[in-house]
Amino acid sequence: MSFGDVRALLCDLDGVVHRGGEPVPGAVDALRRVGTPVRYLTNNASRGPDHVAGLLTGFGVTCRASSVITSAHAAAAEVARRSTGDGLVLVVGAPALERAMTAAGLRVAPPDTAPAEVSVVVQGWGPQVCAADLAAAASAIHLGAAWVATNRDLTLPAQHGLIPGNGALVAAVATAVGHEPDVAVGKPERALYDLAVTDLGLAPEECLAVGDRLDTDILGARRAGIRSVVVLSGIVDLAAVLDAPPGLRPDAVVPHLGWVPGLIDGLAEAWELTESVALVHALREAGQDDIEAVRAATARCTPPSSDWDAVPSSVPDTGALPWR
Ligand SMILES: [Mg+2]
Repeated sequence: MSFGDVRALLCDLDGVVHRGGEPVPGAVDALRRVGTPVRYLTNNASRGPDHVAGLLTGFGVTCRASSVITSAHAAAAEVARRSTGDGLVLVVGAPALERAMTAAGLRVAPPDTAPAEVSVVVQGWGPQVCAADLAAAASAIHLGAAWVATNRDLTLPAQHGLIPGNGALVAAVATAVGHEPDVAVGKPERALYDLAVTDLGLAPEECLAVGDRLDTDILGARRAGIRSVVVLSGIVDLAAVLDAPPGLRPDAVVPHLGWVPGLIDGLAEAWELTESVALVHALREAGQDDIEAVRAATARCTPPSSDWDAVPSSVPDTGALPWR
């Protein structure tokens, strides 16, 4: 599989562009020099597009709010579809999620709204979400409110390790009400990818998704008909990639985002054949159908080492790529 025809990147944020408040090494340079439009797709509904664009701008990456698509966008569309009559929307999550509902013309339930007046509960991650918020959600759902979750990520990467993500908080409510949400709109569902592709005016096959989770980023991209690259700078490690079942396999794996412009530009042949390039080659050669072939190929590679942090920057002479 070649990436030379990629016309846009659909890029996850946490674990791909940054970890916590710090950029992933190589990511900023990659986003500056990639020659295609970029859309940033995140399941994290706690930060609005303006906030994300400001964060990236602070890293030195030019980014407009209109280039950021969060699960709150998709949730607002789903809530609007499920709202009935004069019913109110109970927002459990961050202020950014509430703003997304208001921007979509929905009526947000004020504090102390009676549970019976709630038409839809929308639940997303927020640092201030507390037990009382989960109780209010459960009460409304018990009385018949629809339940829309922004996403079901069980964990979030943080400075000192993983913390409970929205999926963990959704599970707490599910335990109380005895059933799962009516819908969760974030990745691995395809809604965010569909919004991005429509916004770009491209076909899915013209885009390349970059993510750090197989069960959200990669699965969602596959469902949307979009090729994908997994980076090892976030949640997933090499062993998990190799152990992934066919439905969760990316088209390629690279150490971090810094390698992606080279994939698109076809500069790979100029790179020294490090472990990572060999792995990309192995996955392509395997056609994603024979994981044993990938294992055999990667077994010939030494484990990831410090050179995985290197960002290729040289421009090659012409010449066929070894895998074309
Ligand atoms: Mg991520």
